[in-house]
Amino acid sequence: MSMQHHNKHRIPCPHCGESARIRKSQGLTPVYREAIIECRNEDCGWRGKVSIEITHTIAPSDIPNPTVVLPFVPRIQELVMAQKALATA
Ligand SMILES: [Zn+2]
Repeated sequence: MSMQHHNKHRIPCPHCGESARIRKSQGLTPVYREAIIECRNEDCGWRGKVSIEITHTIAPSDIPNPTVVLPFVPRIQELVMAQKALATA
């Protein structure tokens, strides 16, 4: 693996397209987080808010938090249902 991914999680400024920097992030619930973001372009100066919501499970946790309920992503659920249908057919 020689490829570098410095900009993998970059959030571009919606106005000028420069990368914005996350200033402060606060977890409001285990699955919901809000952050203040600030454009790095001094000529722009935009500042705003982003929210990150965890919506689905792809692989379940081995140490699950009982208060967190996250459905499997629909495609995986379909595959599981299809497998079950095959198994019982
Ligand atoms: Zn900007």
